[in-house]
Amino acid sequence: MPEADSKATTALFGWDGYSVDWVERVERLGTVQWVRVRLAPDPERVLRCSGCGGTATGVHDVAHRWVRDLPIFEANVLVRVPRCRVICPRCPGPKLEELAWLDRYSRMTRRLAQNVIRLCYVLPIQQVADYYGLSWGSVKAAHKAHLHQELGPVSLQGARLLLLDEFSIQKGHRYATVVADAERRRVLWVGRDRSRATVRSFFRSLRAKERRQIRAVGIDMNAAFELEIQRFCPQAAIVYDLFHVVAKYGRSVIDRVRIDETARVEAGSPHRKVLSQSKWLLLRNRSNLTPEHEVQLEELLAVNQNLMTVYVLNEDLKQLWRHTDTKQAQTAVAAWIRRAQASGIPALQRFARNLMTYVHGIVAHARWQLNTSVLEGINNKIKVIKRMAYGYRDDEYFFLRIRAAFPGIR
Ligand SMILES: [Zn+2]
Repeated sequence: MPEADSKATTALFGWDGYSVDWVERVERLGTVQWVRVRLAPDPERVLRCSGCGGTATGVHDVAHRWVRDLPIFEANVLVRVPRCRVICPRCPGPKLEELAWLDRYSRMTRRLAQNVIRLCYVLPIQQVADYYGLSWGSVKAAHKAHLHQELGPVSLQGARLLLLDEFSIQKGHRYATVVADAERRRVLWVGRDRSRATVRSFFRSLRAKERRQIRAVGIDMNAAFELEIQRFCPQAAIVYDLFHVVAKYGRSVIDRVRIDETARVEAGSPHRKVLSQSKWLLLRNRSNLTPEHEVQLEELLAVNQNLMTVYVLNEDLKQLWRHTDTKQAQTAVAAWIRRAQASGIPALQRFARNLMTYVHGIVAHARWQLNTSVLEGINNKIKVIKRMAYGYRDDEYFFLRIRAAFPGIR
């Protein structure tokens, strides 16, 4: 290539510190598929050490490496870079030369990586890989490295109120635990499993000072989680999440009673059919019912005293989370438990007995108004992320993407 052309190409493509030595086009059926560019180092460039960023005194050795760059028109571009290791007066041993356009051990230029990363937010990895003719693994690696750098290590950044919740990665098989800042709605940490050890590893990742600043933690009624919180943050109040308690009540009381009542009704009767099909009607939030369904519900409850009782107590259970005065909350919870125990309905009595060991976490809500609905939509967003990243099992990358999807409000 003539010298003028070489300089022009270098200026156009900005491989700083290098000039184009040689270009090869690979054609197929009359179209250029690949452009291969060989670069030659500019002997007059200032050598920079990647260890300290300072000026280096000389070249130690050179190794050639092929890296991908942005496409030129429709052709993919491969660049052969003589990669120098330099001698630095400040750093021990030879160091890789610092280049403005290529990260240290990257197989693609910084500008290609930036474009790949932008696409990763809107397209599944495989589509991004296909678009640039890259491997699936190198696209993921580029995005992962970017997320690591963006999000940094786990830090509370002043969070005082935490929420701890779990979600399923693979229904019934794999779970993960997520910790969020309740006030700024930011996902702080995601860990494998939903075990006590998982929660422990979160608290261990924090500095002692950070642990001391935590005032309250909102959780599902879970004794194992609670023990870990008490161990690492003895000053923090435990607050039970309304949503989880009501969901548990729905499963273990309302639906249990509905099934028992169905069994008591004569087979083949129309009432039995109504009962057996009314699960969702009973468990759904009343405010979400259509007027027609509301009538249906009224009719169902009117003929079934036990269902009526557990339904009314469900509404009152939710009210326990509305108190803002600790004393009033305490009185209300005790009254609710008394009513449940007096109901004569075994499933309800069992639930009330169990709730007695958890009263403090409901009462604490009067002071610390925490609820996981702050993270509403997290499960939907996780489903989208799962789809986007289909075909890999790199939990670490998956968790980084979840953290990135919930950056929080300032
Ligand atoms: Zn150095």
